Amino acid sequence: MWAGAQSWCWCWCSVVLLVCAPPLEALPLVHPSAATPQWLDLSHPLDNTSHHWPGFLGFNLTLMINGSVTPDVWAALHNFASSEHTGTHMDAPIHVGRDGTWSVDQIPADRLVGHAAMIDIADRCQADPDSILTTDDLAEWRKQHGQFVYPTILLVRTGQAAHRDNINRYLGLPEGYQFQEDGFSFSPHELPPLRFPGIGKAAADELAADDAVVGVGVDCLSLDQSANLRLEAHHALFARNKFGLENVADLSRVPATGATVMALPMKIRGGTGGPARILVRLPEEGSQS
Ligand SMILES: [Zn+2]
Repeated sequence: MWAGAQSWCWCWCSVVLLVCAPPLEALPLVHPSAATPQWLDLSHPLDNTSHHWPGFLGFNLTLMINGSVTPDVWAALHNFASSEHTGTHMDAPIHVGRDGTWSVDQIPADRLVGHAAMIDIADRCQADPDSILTTDDLAEWRKQHGQFVYPTILLVRTGQAAHRDNINRYLGLPEGYQFQEDGFSFSPHELPPLRFPGIGKAAADELAADDAVVGVGVDCLSLDQSANLRLEAHHALFARNKFGLENVADLSRVPATGATVMALPMKIRGGTGGPARILVRLPEEGSQS
C-alpha cells in the first residue's frame, strides 16, 4: 500500500516535471558576484546535546528506516521527540502570556521576517555572567541608529553561543559541576546553580511598549537572566504579543542595523513555541547604515 502510493506519487511528480519544467537551456544562469547576498544561519543543529531548561525533554532522534523497504525502494527516516523549547527555538507569546496571546501557529507571517537590530553586550556578559541588557543599552543603540522600524526583531549578543559545546560554560555552572536532570523546577533550591545573562526587566518593559519591535532573541538559554526566576522579561514582552528567540547561534557577524532576519518556527497548532530556523541576510556592501 505504502510502496504503491509512493510509486504513484513519483510517477505523478515526473509527469508534472515533464509538463512544467522549462528546457534546461532556458533556466536563468546564476553568476556569483560581489552583489550576492550573504546569509547567516543562526540556528544550532538539533541533537542530543541541544540545550534546554533543566527537566525539559531534550532532542531525541530515533532511526526508523534505513534501507530497502521493497526490492525497488530504498528509504531513510527518523522519528524525533523533543520539548518545544529545546535548542534554537521560538517562544510564542502564549508560553507565559496567558489567554489572548498568540500560540506559535497564530503569529502572523509578516512578523516572522523583519529588520534585524543587534545589540552587542558580549564583553560585559563574558566578564560578568550576571549582566543584563539595560535601558541605557537601548538608548545608546537609538542614539547611533535611530528608532526601531516596524517590524524589528532585536537580537541581543551575550557571547554565550561560543560556549554551545561546553554545557557548564553555557549554563554558567561551576567548573566540574556534574549536571543532572532532576526534574523541571523554577525553585532556586531545586535548580542547578545556573548563571547566565539576559534581558533586564526595565529594558523588556521598554521593548514591550515599542510597537516597532515584534520579537527579541538571545544567544543564551533564556530571555531572562538566570537569577530572574519570575521571568519578568518573558512576561513583559509576551503580554504584548512579542515573541522570543532563545539559544540563537553566534551573532558576531550580524551588524547593528541593516540586515534582514527570518525566524521560522515549526508550525505546531496551539504550540507554546517550537524549533526555529533563524536566518539573517546581511546587507550588501555599502548599504549598511
Ligand atoms: Zn523557550
